[in-house]
Amino acid sequence: MSQVQNLTILGATGTIGENTLRVVALHPQRFNVVALTAGSQLEKLVTQCLRHTPRYAVVLDEASAVRLRSLLAQAGSSTTVLFGVEALEHVSSMPEVDVVMAAIVGAAGLRPAMAAARAGKRVLLANKETLVMAGRLFMQAVAEGGAELLPIDSEHNAIFQALPRDFRGDLAACGVRRILLTASGGPFRTTPLSDLPHVTPDQACAHPNWVMGRKISVDSATMMNKGLEVIEARWLFNALPEQIEVLIHPQSVIHSMVDYLDGSVIAQLGNPDMRTPIAYALGFPERIEAGVSALDLIGRGLTFEAPDYARFPCLKLAFAALEQGGMLPAVLNAANEVAVALYLAGAIGYGQIAPSIEHALDHALAGEPGALDDVIEADAQARRDTAAYLGPRAA
Ligand code: NAD
Ligand code: MG
Repeated sequence: MSQVQNLTILGATGTIGENTLRVVALHPQRFNVVALTAGSQLEKLVTQCLRHTPRYAVVLDEASAVRLRSLLAQAGSSTTVLFGVEALEHVSSMPEVDVVMAAIVGAAGLRPAMAAARAGKRVLLANKETLVMAGRLFMQAVAEGGAELLPIDSEHNAIFQALPRDFRGDLAACGVRRILLTASGGPFRTTPLSDLPHVTPDQACAHPNWVMGRKISVDSATMMNKGLEVIEARWLFNALPEQIEVLIHPQSVIHSMVDYLDGSVIAQLGNPDMRTPIAYALGFPERIEAGVSALDLIGRGLTFEAPDYARFPCLKLAFAALEQGGMLPAVLNAANEVAVALYLAGAIGYGQIAPSIEHALDHALAGEPGALDDVIEADAQARRDTAAYLGPRAA
């Protein structure tokens, strides 16, 4: 692909957004940044706008837009500032955009990712919540819009790389027996179980191998992140739950594997650096420089363990939500977002995260969502229920 590609980065100020801009900066002839969006961190967005001169910058609300306009005007920038969900949908679907990096965190990423899919863009999907909440609807939008979907989550990017290039959603036809989804086990893999109720948010966010946003870091500690990724894999690769196996691999060198009928297992390895899957998806089908150092395997031991559900009850809850299907994965995700936000704010303990999600799943309505609004309603309901459940228990 020699033509310059026009890029929208949703969630530009986050870890994925920043890493995307680092890769893009290595290839000025290949990529042209058209829009950058952010929830907060306006100063960072200003710096990015000055460096990458996008046509649009999008923020959450009018007050932030007014502030950003004044900051950009002072700096002599000609970037146009927009705000709100419609503006996010607009910069994800406008005709001059070729590629959309969907890297907003949480349920807020759903609508703009959907807009990009419907508009037939090349969608680089980091926002796993989109597939967890509305997997069937999103995959339909991708098919109907003629979009090209490339996974950014390192495990799914690894699986994508280990599958045949012509994979079209039929694992059996490709001779695949299982998908082996690797997990680091996070910072509490060997912490005594009796200490877990007292672990602090800073301890939970101190991931041994990856530098990530705080929400996904807590999810890695509870292994809810892996649970969300199991659901993500179900939709991306049209896999049955029993075709997906989670394997703890503490070194995070193997990013996931595909097990074939003939006994071959194909893995993707690399340093734990998100610029690798980002560059893979940006350059696809070509390989491009990511700025990541070569993997040095000398003296590295690679080990594997089975996950322990007593230590990681969130992983079990995610498998249960996937098995039951319908709206339950969206409920799982919403309850988890509420619980993790309260935990990060110091209002509840680590040990309250899993029970509050279980409570939400027990009280959720079943049924397939017919449209995106059904998912958004289930999400809102689960948020209210979880907040009400945790309210009296919060410190
Ligand atoms: P982050 O918290 O570092 O950044 C999130 C971005 O979204 C920021 O730009 C923030 O301003 C923006 N944002 C937050 N709330 C918003 C809202 N309500 N509306 C609009 N924008 C909002 O998160 P991250 O670690 O970069 O993760 C982004 C997504 O990528 C998540 O879905 C995460 O699960 C996924 N992911 C991240 C990693 C990683 O290594 N960080 C790996 C795999 C997948
Ligand atoms: Mg991942």
